[in-house]
Amino acid sequence: MNQLAKKSDNPLPKEIFKKGLELHHYANTAYPLNGTKVFKPFRTPNNEINQAATDTWQKVDELGLYIHIPFCKKRCLYCEYTVLPENTEELHENYVQLVLKEISLYKQLIQNKKTVGLDIGGGTPTALSLKNIDNLVSAVLKNQILDEKFDISIETTPYIAATEPEKIKQLKQIGINRISMGVQSIDPKILEEVGRIDNKTKILKQATENIRNADFKRFNVDIMYGFANQSIESWLATVQFTVDLDPEYITFYRNRYKGTRIEHDSKIVTLDEVNRQYDLAFDFLATKGYKENFGKNTFSKVKGDPGTSAYLTKRVIEGTPYLGLGLGAQSFSDTILSYNLGAASKKLNKYQERLNNNQFPLQDIYQIPTDEVMAKTICVSFYFGYINKQSFKKKFNENLENIFKEEVNFLTENNLMEHDGDLFKLTKKGKDNLTGIIPLFYSNRSKLNLLNYQPK
Ligand code: SF4
Repeated sequence: MNQLAKKSDNPLPKEIFKKGLELHHYANTAYPLNGTKVFKPFRTPNNEINQAATDTWQKVDELGLYIHIPFCKKRCLYCEYTVLPENTEELHENYVQLVLKEISLYKQLIQNKKTVGLDIGGGTPTALSLKNIDNLVSAVLKNQILDEKFDISIETTPYIAATEPEKIKQLKQIGINRISMGVQSIDPKILEEVGRIDNKTKILKQATENIRNADFKRFNVDIMYGFANQSIESWLATVQFTVDLDPEYITFYRNRYKGTRIEHDSKIVTLDEVNRQYDLAFDFLATKGYKENFGKNTFSKVKGDPGTSAYLTKRVIEGTPYLGLGLGAQSFSDTILSYNLGAASKKLNKYQERLNNNQFPLQDIYQIPTDEVMAKTICVSFYFGYINKQSFKKKFNENLENIFKEEVNFLTENNLMEHDGDLFKLTKKGKDNLTGIIPLFYSNRSKLNLLNYQPK
């Protein structure tokens, strides 16, 4: 333990800020930095997991839903998600049966509750047959009360969108109204370095055409920056190409190295470089009608539409609880954070075993105190580049400025964040120093953990 951590239980904002910048590949919107360590005291014993899950979801009256599909043709080297090594139709069928079973276990707890959105992610959810996707959607939405802004969003690879136009059409017909395509980069050299399938520009154009022919009006393209050896020219060529595809939304993801097979590469990627990549793309997108506030990751050219799915929008702005279904899925409510089996092992056997015994397939369930719920809620809100003070007050019955008095003062005095009506938002300087800002809202135990964190 370093000197500072020994000295005080309440580290100073400037120390945390400095450490967050030092750990700029780690102190991002994913909270906490080291869940197993920080949340250890709150872990529910295995024999109480079923009861804890039941009590939690019974109490929740509004939620978002997420279904995880862990299949990809090839695992990218930067992948931080739960993806299975096998990818056969037989396995797809078995997997869907298991998720349906999981849905049926939760149904008695969540049905007739207000549901803000459904995201189907992965992995590659469009790897499943249309029938399987439809079965999952119907089962999970049966007897749910849909919020007026409810939508269903699905992720696809360019290859599937380009080669299975009928499936894409039918996705729209079964009520999925937002589709997100992972392009990441058009640079073959970068794609090779990160072990990703090279979808030639012809495929990307065909995929876009098929998505438009299927009448999707909410189309997002994901692109990534912050890779080692990714030149500005390479990044801007991807941004330019993506703009030419003319999607309603473009989302930038900064590569997160933690726990991935290319974690060692993070050492050669500097904060200045990633800030420059973001800034150049940010300015360019603004000239093309995709205008957003500093720090936001999804750029929309539709007025009044943040571009994210309803599930994610509510999660980010209001901290709405979400239930994740499927292998390794994460769930978060006002009192618990949980991970399904498979999150650590990336294997199906235990998830399957638990469901076969009619038990929730949970690996860990942490009953966390309010400071942790606040920390996680705020960290995620930086996905939009701001904290909505009104939402914070509604959720926690407290003013943000009271709970984080020192931190808020530090941020305003240093021109890192500013008040703008209900929003406490990043300035340009704040955007450049985001990973110093985010941990200011960590719980004290998490701040101490950050100060002692040793990246691999
Ligand atoms: S496409 Fe996404 S989920 Fe699939 S292996 Fe690559 S990073 Fe992981």
